[in-house]
Amino acid sequence: MRHPMPFGADYTPERTVFRLWAPQAAGVKLQRFCTGSDEEPGARFLGEVPMRGPVEGVFTYTAPGNLKNEYYQYLLTDSNGNVTWSADPWALACGVNGQRSMVVDLAETDPSGWAKDRGPDLAGKAPVIWETHVRDFSSDPRSGVTPAHRGKYLAFTEADTTLDGAGDRPTCLNYLKQLGVTHIQLMPIFDYGSVDERCPEGGYNWGYDPENYNVPEGSYSSDPYHGEVRIRECKEMIRAIHRAGLGVVMDVVYNHTYRNDSWLERTAPGEYYRTMPDGSPANASGCGNETASDRKPFRDYMLSSLRYWAEEYHVDGFRFDLMAVHDVETMNLVRAALDRLPGGERLLTYGEPWSALPTRMHPEAIPAGKAAVRQFNSRLGIFCDDTRNALVGSPFTVFEKGYANGNPTDKLAERIRAAAHGWCDRARLGYANNPGQILQYASCHDNYTLWDRLTIEEGAQNYDCMEPHRLQCCKLVSGMCLTLPGLGFFLSGEEFGRTKHGDGNSYQGPEELNRLDWGRTELFADLVAWYRGLLGLREWLVPMGRLQPERAKGDYLEVPENCVGFRLDGEGTWSAFLVYYNPYETGKPVTLPAGEWQLLCDGKRSDLWKNDAPPVVSGGWMLPPCSAVVLGSC
Ligand code: CA
Repeated sequence: MRHPMPFGADYTPERTVFRLWAPQAAGVKLQRFCTGSDEEPGARFLGEVPMRGPVEGVFTYTAPGNLKNEYYQYLLTDSNGNVTWSADPWALACGVNGQRSMVVDLAETDPSGWAKDRGPDLAGKAPVIWETHVRDFSSDPRSGVTPAHRGKYLAFTEADTTLDGAGDRPTCLNYLKQLGVTHIQLMPIFDYGSVDERCPEGGYNWGYDPENYNVPEGSYSSDPYHGEVRIRECKEMIRAIHRAGLGVVMDVVYNHTYRNDSWLERTAPGEYYRTMPDGSPANASGCGNETASDRKPFRDYMLSSLRYWAEEYHVDGFRFDLMAVHDVETMNLVRAALDRLPGGERLLTYGEPWSALPTRMHPEAIPAGKAAVRQFNSRLGIFCDDTRNALVGSPFTVFEKGYANGNPTDKLAERIRAAAHGWCDRARLGYANNPGQILQYASCHDNYTLWDRLTIEEGAQNYDCMEPHRLQCCKLVSGMCLTLPGLGFFLSGEEFGRTKHGDGNSYQGPEELNRLDWGRTELFADLVAWYRGLLGLREWLVPMGRLQPERAKGDYLEVPENCVGFRLDGEGTWSAFLVYYNPYETGKPVTLPAGEWQLLCDGKRSDLWKNDAPPVVSGGWMLPPCSAVVLGSC
């Protein structure tokens, strides 16, 4: 069964069944075309035919013959005789810019070996997610990727890329498979409306502008005109990422659509969205409209769409944009629906636990925001802005420093201790059910990059110089994010001082500002090595099992004022770990717990643990300045 959707165009070589839910339409006609737009060579109208129905709001038409790769749209007539056209909101394929839907033979879009393609088995590793954008990933001319593939899905299929295509400094997926992260989170890859697919080089957008929820974006494909191409290439990307041993998390934006006048609205006016008392669109998304997951039509749509991406595209998880625009019940149903799929339990689900503005959901529905995390399924997680703000300061007040970048106050130290409750004091875990629900992070696509934030706070101008204190500060911040209880997450390039030259909201481009500058892996080789060592050490320190309920086995340690330290039980090579954070620019003395301790990470180097005989320390010891330190029992 390749077509799990209740509506849309269900293709077999013998016939195609079209189904549309249009509860207010008096009549619907199906129109068929050779191409996805009238501007293309071979454009031809193939005729129109009235659909049967409605039966409970559903119109149906069975077209005999093989309609593969034909394009279609609907003409809807309401009871007053007004006629509207719409593409199919349930379409699985579409033409250029998503303006016409397409009948697709999904089996033909499978790359070789697709039936055996699987996401990675993490074997007890706790996920660490690396966020990127398809175009940013490879559009750097130095990426080593074939020019035709730069900025495209197919860039991910190049396995052995190196900087400038010469030497041995890996780039793109070749780099990532050695970094130690478990998942790539891709900013929107569903079809969005804010880049003209006919000339993508003329524009740029992050893509939080859904046009066709169940179709991949065309501007990342080698041919946006033939709807089957983007599907095949998107699958090829996912297969390549899986072969590199990594999972794919899809950033999904079900909270709003690009246009108020979307296909959903055109085919079923008022059914899928929330409105204000005067009938105008509600706007919790801050983008002009908000969908209504608390009502059946959109809830069912969202569940079908998510199942489809999981099953057809083998994605390994979903990141929900503005998740508090959705209601808790829907989000728990999402988790349950994914869990019912074969192997579905391993799919990650997490989101932003906020909305841009208050929602207009039903008064009895509960927004899936921070205040409601205890009502979430315990495997539905959230981005923890509390830890982020404590670590580096709020993104909304850029000159307000955080604990790790020059402001180690009592209050912020207490917040860092609270962030470590998942290890040491589960009774005070706060709003989460378990530490596996928390994503610890310091940077994502929104706001300043970590490097830019630190640069701006210093009053510095030069984003391209490897300033030593700033570098050490990056090590402390990432050292904390990746040793505090929770899932790991960082913006791609955080590990090589990614800069957008002080632009805190680069969603519209330009490409040159957003793309990963792979040359910085050379300039920041020391920082890359830090992340790599830390991610390797984390496998011992933060196994997935330790993030589950009832597995807290740690204690806070005696530390100098406003430093933070905790002891964790280990397994295998090290039976216990000590983790210390010193946010000061001077060394701070500590008395280590009894016994001898191997220095696994000293705050500057995170790969000491790889040595046959790491340095051994005991008794009184000096925490290095501005450091996250890990010691292991001998
Ligand atoms: Ca598009």
